[in-house]
Amino acid sequence: MKYSELCKVYEELGGTTKRLEKIAILSEFLKKINEKDKDVLYLLLGSLYPAYDAREIGISTQTVIKALAKATGINDEKIVGEWKKIGDLGKVAELLIAGKKQSGLFHGELTTEKIISDLRELAKMQGKGTVGKKIDLIAGLLSNSKPIEAKYLVRILLADLRIGVQDSTLRDSISEVFFHDDKKSASEIIQHAYDLNPDMALIFEKARKGLKELGKVTLKAGAPIRAMLAQKVDTIEEGFEKVGKPAAFEFKYDGFRLMINKDEKGNISLFTRRLENVTKQFPDVVSFVKEFVNAKSFMIDSEVVGYDPKTKKYLPFQSISQRIKRKYDLEKMAKDFPVEVNVFDLLMLDGESYISKPFIERTKTLRKIIKNKEYKLVCAKQLITNDEKKAQEFFNQALKLNQEGLMIKNLNAVYKPGSRVGYMLKLKPEHRDLDLVIIGAEYGTGKRAGWLSSFILACKSDKHGEGEFLEIGRVGTGIKEKLDIGVSFLELTNLLKPLIIKSSGKEVKVKPKIIVSVIFQEIQKSPTYSSGYALRFPRVTALRIDKPLSEIASLKDIEREYKRQK
Ligand code: ATP
Repeated sequence: MKYSELCKVYEELGGTTKRLEKIAILSEFLKKINEKDKDVLYLLLGSLYPAYDAREIGISTQTVIKALAKATGINDEKIVGEWKKIGDLGKVAELLIAGKKQSGLFHGELTTEKIISDLRELAKMQGKGTVGKKIDLIAGLLSNSKPIEAKYLVRILLADLRIGVQDSTLRDSISEVFFHDDKKSASEIIQHAYDLNPDMALIFEKARKGLKELGKVTLKAGAPIRAMLAQKVDTIEEGFEKVGKPAAFEFKYDGFRLMINKDEKGNISLFTRRLENVTKQFPDVVSFVKEFVNAKSFMIDSEVVGYDPKTKKYLPFQSISQRIKRKYDLEKMAKDFPVEVNVFDLLMLDGESYISKPFIERTKTLRKIIKNKEYKLVCAKQLITNDEKKAQEFFNQALKLNQEGLMIKNLNAVYKPGSRVGYMLKLKPEHRDLDLVIIGAEYGTGKRAGWLSSFILACKSDKHGEGEFLEIGRVGTGIKEKLDIGVSFLELTNLLKPLIIKSSGKEVKVKPKIIVSVIFQEIQKSPTYSSGYALRFPRVTALRIDKPLSEIASLKDIEREYKRQK
């Protein structure tokens, strides 16, 4: 397929914020995609593979700037200058290539096959000494691009497509194309299939063959599913009301979510809740799984918690979060920052899906295949009861042991991937916290000169389509001067600097990417910020690199919290 056709569709999609219009545009386009071109579905989501695939393009803005300089003959500084003015390197590429083309540069016709195969090559180039090769490859593509093609090439490379297409938009478009007469129920079937195997190109191909084929999609070890999420409750009584009696209570461990997969061949793979493959980062966990889970193939849901290797005390999430992104010294990291795996759900066993079975059956079977080994791999501490008092004692015990609180689970409920349906609840001691994204910052003065030291926080709006973020305050507290456990100014500055899209004086605007957990005393109405609310005495407690942007607090969550505190 011609790459220019895809770019035309990107452009049309970016030109509207209306979901129905996007679906109409996508539906027309999907009709033209034949089986050979099915990987274009990944490109529509700004990627090359299904989300869970470990291979990423991972190109820095610096590399893109150098490639652009090479393709156009314009120097780096001028490109950076334009970028600072416009705030979108994709647009800069479009303008610069347009300028070049006027001077008569030849271009061939790029195809989506070529883009996909070249970018996949790029993803393979890793380590030192590959930067030059990457620049050459990108410059080659840019030289052959029309202006609009260059714009989207750069945006794909930087994982910032800006066309406002989500998985759900594609799902409904597929439904529109193949099951026009009964779109609604087909959308549900497509969603269910996608929940079981989140690979959009595969789902598209199955849909083409009909609903029956979609019905055959099942869990596959190595292709992780999205984690089921929890709703908040304030008391044990409210918990019982929501999930019925008796219920299962489990310690809520303060670590990060890990989906553990083992396929029939014995390959073990580990995924975060963003479906990032972190198998390499956790060689210790891989060996625990081999030793303490007794089954041929499975998919298990768990929470990984750090502990102090000397005192054996459990540590907050922040202390081990650095292991998730680490690329080298992985064995040493495992020693210095040891973890315990707390398993709490079984989603697949020996090829059979368990997600439609009731929780009580899943948890019982899980406990049969696990050999508990403290500080390595254990089943989550659990109490099944209908007695409020006993549940309260269990809650107190969890807090005494430094855990976050309790999870409360409906014994009869199925596992609903990726949804916050209320089959699983969380109960924490009374403090207010929100996960918010940083959209701007200000450089400090005096001791903090050179560091970003005050951060503008935002929640997401509830609108469909392009992610839109609403300011809800500034925070500078809770952040450490020096890097030990916790979040430091240096760390945040290093993370945010490459994301700067505009600067004026000491203020910078950044791409919304870095998520922090914030506690605060109160939410107030405020005309100062675009959300209409402000946080009183906010304080950063953790950097949430495990969380996808789609799961930060929404305006609705803020409104709910505001009403609750009244
Ligand atoms: P929070 O910030 O409160 O942890 P969250 O937004 O990260 O919430 P939720 O799904 O709302 O995630 O809260 C449940 C999380 O608690 C799970 O995602 C999981 O990572 C963690 N957890 C810890 N222990 C358990 C357990 N026993 N069962 C289920 N989830 C658990």
